[in-house]
Amino acid sequence: MSVITVGTMAFDAIETPFGKVDRIVGGSATYVAYAASHLVKPIKQISIIGNDFPEEELNELKSRGVEIEGVEVIKDKPSFFWSGKYHVDMNTRDTLITDLNVLMDFNPIVPPSYQGAEFLMLGNLMPSLQISVIKQLQIRPKLIVLDTMNFWMETALPDLQTVLTMIDVLLINDGEARQLSGEYSLVKAAKAIMQLGVKFVIIKKGEHGALLFHGDHVFVAPALPLEDVFDPTGAGDTFAGGFIGHLARTKDISYQNMKTAIIVGSAMASFCVEKFGPERLKEITKADIDARLSQFVQLVNFDIDLV
Ligand code: AMP
Repeated sequence: MSVITVGTMAFDAIETPFGKVDRIVGGSATYVAYAASHLVKPIKQISIIGNDFPEEELNELKSRGVEIEGVEVIKDKPSFFWSGKYHVDMNTRDTLITDLNVLMDFNPIVPPSYQGAEFLMLGNLMPSLQISVIKQLQIRPKLIVLDTMNFWMETALPDLQTVLTMIDVLLINDGEARQLSGEYSLVKAAKAIMQLGVKFVIIKKGEHGALLFHGDHVFVAPALPLEDVFDPTGAGDTFAGGFIGHLARTKDISYQNMKTAIIVGSAMASFCVEKFGPERLKEITKADIDARLSQFVQLVNFDIDLV
C-alpha cells in the first residue's frame, strides 16, 4: 500500500512556556511523513523546499521509506517559514509569521512513479494546490484525507469549498470547524461540514482528543493525559500521519477501522508533543508505539453494570 503525502516542508520558529527555538525543521508534510512511515512504506512525498533545507533531513526521511522524487528544490529561494507562539494554555497559539517563500511558486507535479497510490494525504497547503494534485491522479485513490487551517479559510475559501467536494475525510481542529461552519456546537458543525460534501469529519481538540463523525455516528478518541506538553507544533499533522498510516497498513477504510485509526493518530501525536519539532518521532520504536497504544486501551477500558 503506498501513500502520497502533500504539504509543506518548512522551517519553524516556536515559542512555548518551556522554551524557544529559532529555526527548526517542520512543515505539515514533514510531520505526516515521519509519523506515517512508522506504519507503512513507501511514503511518496510531494512538497517544495529552498536551497536551505538540510540534506541530512532529506536523507533521514529517505532512510525511513519516504520517497522524495516529488519534492521540488528551488535553488535561489528560502523554504517556507512559519513562526508561532503558545501561551500557558497550549491548545491555542498565535501565528506570528507566515513567509510563503518557495510556496509562492509551488505548482506540484505528481511524478509518474507516484501514480496508482491507494491513499492520498493532502496536508495543510493552499487548497488550489490540493485540487491540482487530485486532478493529476489518473486513478482516484481509495481514500483522500485533507487537513486545512484557518489561514486558508480566510484567504482561499472558494477553493477550499471546492476541494471539500473531492475528498473523503476532513481533519480540522475545533476552532476551525466552528469558523468553517458558523456553528458553535461541534455536532452541528460536523453535520454542516458533511453537507459540504465530506463523508467523514474528524475534529481535533488538542489535549481533549478527537471526534470522528460519519452520518449520524460519532466516536471519540481521548488524548493521552501527559504531565508535560513541551511543544504541540505538528501534533495535528502527526495525528494525520498516524491516521492514514494505520488505514493504509490495514488496507481497510471502513468507519469501524477509522475508529482505531484515530486512536493510532492520537498515540502518534502524544509522542510529537514531548519534544520540539519532529525530534521525538525520529526516536521512537515500534515497541514504544505498541506500549503507548496499550496505554490508550487502558485509558478507555471499563466495565459497567447497566442500571
Ligand atoms: P500543526 O501544529 O499540526 O497545525 O502543524 C504545524 C506545522 O504546519 C508547522 O511545522 C508549520 O511549518 C506548518 N504550517 C503552518 N502554517 C502553515 C500554512 N499556512 N500552510 C501550510 N503549512 C503550515
